[in-house]
Formats: sequence, structure tokens, C-alpha cells
Amino acid sequence: MALGDLKLPIQYVKGVGPRRAELFARLGVHTVEDALYLLPNRYEDRRHLKLIAHVRIGEQETIRGEVLAAGLKNTRKGPLFELVIGDSSGKLVAKWFNQAYLKKRFKRGQEVILWGKVLLGLGLEMVNPDYELLEPGDEQIHTGRIVPIYPLTQGFSPRLARSIMKTVVDTFVPQVRDFLPDTVRERHSLLSLPAAIEAIHSPDGHDDPEKARRRLAFDDFFLLSLGIALRRQETVEEAGIAFKVESSLADQALARFGYPLTPAQEKVLAQIKEDMARPRPMNRLLQGDVGSGKTIVAFLAMLIAVDNDYQAAIMAPTEILAEQHFIRAERLLAPLGVKVFLLTSSIKGKDRQVILDELQRGSPAVAVGTHALIQEEVQFARLGFVIIDEQHRFGVLQRARLRAKGYRPDVLVMTATPIPRTLALTVYGDLDISVLDEMPPGRQTVKTYRLKEADRPRLYQFMIEELKKGRHAYVICPLIEESEKEDLKAAIKTANDLQEGPFKDFQVGLLHGRMKFEEKEAVMGGFREGRIHLLVATTVVEVGVDVPTATVILIEQADRLGLSQLHQLRGRVGRAGDQAYCFLMTSPRLSEEAEERVQAMVNLSDGFAISEKDLEIRGPGDFFGTRQSGLPDLKVGSILRDVRILEQARTEAFHLVQEDPRLQAPEHSFLKEVLLERWRDGIGLGVIG
Ligand code: ADP
Ligand code: MG
Repeated sequence: MALGDLKLPIQYVKGVGPRRAELFARLGVHTVEDALYLLPNRYEDRRHLKLIAHVRIGEQETIRGEVLAAGLKNTRKGPLFELVIGDSSGKLVAKWFNQAYLKKRFKRGQEVILWGKVLLGLGLEMVNPDYELLEPGDEQIHTGRIVPIYPLTQGFSPRLARSIMKTVVDTFVPQVRDFLPDTVRERHSLLSLPAAIEAIHSPDGHDDPEKARRRLAFDDFFLLSLGIALRRQETVEEAGIAFKVESSLADQALARFGYPLTPAQEKVLAQIKEDMARPRPMNRLLQGDVGSGKTIVAFLAMLIAVDNDYQAAIMAPTEILAEQHFIRAERLLAPLGVKVFLLTSSIKGKDRQVILDELQRGSPAVAVGTHALIQEEVQFARLGFVIIDEQHRFGVLQRARLRAKGYRPDVLVMTATPIPRTLALTVYGDLDISVLDEMPPGRQTVKTYRLKEADRPRLYQFMIEELKKGRHAYVICPLIEESEKEDLKAAIKTANDLQEGPFKDFQVGLLHGRMKFEEKEAVMGGFREGRIHLLVATTVVEVGVDVPTATVILIEQADRLGLSQLHQLRGRVGRAGDQAYCFLMTSPRLSEEAEERVQAMVNLSDGFAISEKDLEIRGPGDFFGTRQSGLPDLKVGSILRDVRILEQARTEAFHLVQEDPRLQAPEHSFLKEVLLERWRDGIGLGVIG
């Protein structure tokens, strides 16, 4: 099998062996195939190296010359190694700080190549340039051509990497087989796969590396989209429940809700109803910024299911949130005679058994819960509608497990971390997407300020004024995994200090994840009902908590939190008409990245803009956590850079699935093989497997 040869462990390639294989492993390269996809960081044109006399000051230049002198000096900043390099036109001094070992590496008379920025000191200089020693016979690999510069890891010199990679490419490229249908390749003027891989590593052949990269990025998105298209194909073909969507329960609940739906909520509810009415399982993602009013839409949809004599379940990521949904659902629905159950790990014994029995009997009801809902002992006799709230907190498998509690139920996943369109297309390509792109009326932007320690007295004064008006405030103490114990202590101390000091005339409450559920519930209840005025909390309140009278949030050590987390936290205030405020307490000097995050919070309020920024700062891998998403890795493609390629590849993939829904055509058999391999951890590709 052609693919098999490329699976050869890199260790067995000529000149590698077990020790060097370890160096490759550090770069994520285990097999020949991985090595073929190891992209150079950059290229250096060494066909016509510049004479030293012609280098430009302030520019990155590559020169080649002979070592005229080498020496180690001690300076106040530590050892300084200097090398004088000369060619027929002049001299240049290269300097390295704190790398005394270099002394052993260079000898007079040796040929070297240097790459670095040219500075003007006493003469021409380069500080800490990249270097390569040239040896006889190097002409074909290391100079005289455009050479690839591979990512380095300790113990792996550029020369060594390049020599081995040349062997790998020369030996194995002839065995690379193309899997992309010719028609697709031709339509988008893509290189063949062997040509692309060749060009990536030996760019002075016929094809340039940018063109090669385009082909490889296309592959990434094509294989990703193909998997998604097949998954989607499968659900489109399945029979599901056709609900009757006229529902008097939903109408009554809406009347009791007390506000008219916003046009955005109307639009989204109509989309959901349309899906529900169809005899196919719904698979819809509802994106809406924090506070946009997703919950009521979710409740109304669940009521339609209940009105059709089905059970509906909503799963939330935390107990606090589940409890809150339960309180709201019960307040709205119990008077209509709808049964509402809460199922979390804190609900035990007889209470739990009663609920389990009801669900198993198939009584039409709304079940609200946490992960507890997907445990094996929980069985629904008639689960017809499933909602996953704050879906980014759940993995694919957890979602799948809740869905599997019913027989092809309709599924709505909700997220308050709206993601940019390109990313949504990629990650949620198998879902239909609804967007709540409008806030309920009367909302004002939360005024956001960055503060320092010295501002504290004035800040507390301001908070006291707000509390006196009957409003409420959060103080968030970040709890970070690595320093959890100390962070927790800090939160407890903060609560005490505030209660005994500036806020002695008010009631201060404390909420953190280590508390028992009953304690949490009591504190949350006190805050919701206004008996507690100021709530000191760890990041447990991050998702979903809704207390409309809260207008101030102070986030301590805000620079330690991620952007989407900050946005979620800020979303705890400004949930009604009053002007709300968010204060970010930061240390005076921040890393560049932290600085960017804090600035983004001050300048941006729209969740989409924040997500985009977050994606930009963190990069898509980190942003989404591919493992969690269950999607194959992108080897080359970038969701930020390659939007156009992504769209083209996606169109082709969906087109292909329409023509050959099971990839049965003989000319697609190799493609199918490659696809299954890329998606090996993914789920739901049973259609073709
Ligand atoms: P999220 O989308 O973050 O889950 P919620 O559903 O919790 O937001 O809604 C935020 C707040 O807005 C809640 O207090 C809710 O009652 C209120 N709300 C929702 N829809 C409307 C509406 N159409 N008019 C007025 N207030 C609304
Ligand atoms: Mg919510």
C-alpha cells in the first residue's frame, strides 16, 4: 500500500537512527510522511550570495566568507565571542553573547555562511546571526541554490536537518500518490501532491513554495470539509421527529415572560420551528453574545416538544447555571402545568430516584441538568429535544451522548462565544447556524476601565455609591489551575477584608467551586434576591449567571485571564437597562499579549469582534482546542490566512459528497483511505467506513 511506505518511522531513514529520531520527534515528526510535511520556516536564496561590500545596513542579509580571526572576550554583560569574516570585497564582525562554546566550533580558514541583520558599529557587524559551516562537497545541498531553513531544535543544526530532509524528499517523493480528484485539482490550478511536496523542500525547481503551500492548505481544508459533509449527509438522510409547531404552551409561556421577543429572537425561533416541523433530526447551532437572550428561545422550543408529548433536556456546564435554568424554567413553566426536573450530582437518594423514574416512564417534561444527565443510569423514554448550553464547555462525545439518550432527537447547541464565520464553517460545518445578532432593547454598552492599585480607594467609593442605589456588584478573583490553593485563599481573604473594611455597611458574600452545592445555592440565592449586595467569586460565575440588578464587576488580576473568559465575566453585568461598569485591575507591567487582551476589552464590546481578536492573539489551534473539537489537525492551512482556500475547498468537498455520497466510485477509493486516516479520532464517519 502506497500509504504504508510513508508510514515508515523516520528512525529507519538513512542517516537518522534512534538518537536523531528523538530530535525529529521534538518537532512532531515520527514518520516519513510527517517529515514530508515538515515545512521550512523560511528560505534563503544562496544562488548569488552578496559580497560583504554590498550588504545594506539595517537589512537581513546572507553572506558567505572565510573565518579570518576568532576570539572570546569577557565583557560586563558576560562572555562575547567574535568572529571576523572576510570575502574578496571586505570584512564583517559577527558577535555572539553568552555562547562561549562557539569558540570550539569555528577554525581559521573555514568557510561559513551567516544570516542576520547588518549593523554599523566600528565596522559592519551582525549580532547573534544564524550560521552554517560549509564543508567540501556542500555545493548542492547547502549553497548554490535556494535553501530551506527548517525549524530548529537543540542539537539539530540547520545543516543536519537539511541533509536528512534532502534524503527523505529524494527517496520518498516518488512514492507520494495524489488523492485529490483531477477535476478539482484542475479547477483550482493546484499542483499535484508530489510536485507540491517537492517544491516546498526544493524551491528552485519549477514550482514556487507559495504555490506548493496553497495546494497543501487546500488538502487540509478539503479533507476537513469532506468529513464534515459526510457527517452532515448522514443526518440529512435520517428520519427524525416531525413536531407540530403550533403550541399553546409556548404561547402561554411567552405571554408570561413579560417582554416581546426581539426581532432577532423571532427570526431564530422561526428557524428552529422550521427545523422541528421537518421529519429530519435538527442539528442547529445558536450563536448569541452574552446577554442576547438565548434562554427564552431555548425554553419556547422545549415547550413545543413537550406539547407534542415528548421530553426535552437542557444540559449546562456548571451546577450554578443548571440551577439558574431550573429556577427560571420552573417559574415560567410550572404554572402552565409543565413538569420541570433538576438533575445534578448533588441531587441524590430518593429525590433522584423519583426523577429517574419519571424520565424513564416517559412523562412529558423538561429536564434541566449538568453532566449528570448523560450518566448511564439516566434514561429517557421519549427524549425528543436536546439543548446543550454553552457548548464550548462540552466535548463532542458529551454532546453525542446526550443526543443518544433519545431516538434521533432534534438538537440545538447554544454558544455565547460567537466565532468568526470562517471558523464556524470549519468547525460547525455539519450544523445549521442561527445568530442572535441583536440585544434586547435598552441595553447599554458596559463601560470598561483599566485600573491600577492606586485607584482602589476611588473605585470602592464608586462601588459604594452604586450599592446605595440598590444595585449589586461582583468582585472576581481569578482561580488559575497552577496556583489554585493560593488563589482560593486570596479570594477568601478578599471577601473578609471587604466585609470588614470598605463594605462593612453591606452584606458581602463568597462563592467558589470548592463549596458544597447547598452553600453555593444559598449564596447565589442571597445575591439574586438582594440580601447579598456584593459577591466575591472565583471564575465559577463565568458562564451564564444572570442577576439583572448587578451593575458593577471588578475583575482582580484581569491580565491573568483569557479574552473570551473576560468577555464572559463582563457579560454578568449590564443585563438590564441600567448603565453597567467593568473594572479591570491589572499589574502595571504586562506581557505584550496580556496588554493586547486588556486593551481589546477596553476598546471592544461586541462578542464577535472579541472572538476575532482572541483568534488573532491565540491562533486557531489554541482558540478552539482541536482535540476537544474532534476535528483532524491542519498540517499547513491557517484559518486566519487561508479564508479563500477554505471556501473553495469546502465548496468542492460538499459538491463531491453530493455526487458520490458514500465515496464508492473507484476513483475515490484512495481519497477515502486518506480521509479515514486523517479523521481517525473523529466520530461519525461510519457512513463510509
Ligand atoms: P444569554 O443569551 O446570555 O443566555 P439570557 O437568555 O440569560 O442571555 O438573557 C439575558 C437577560 O435578558 C435575561 O435577564 C432575560 O430575561 C433578558 N431578556 C431576554 N430576552 C428579552 C427580551 N426580548 N426583552 C427583554 N429582556 C429580555
Ligand atoms: Mg445563557
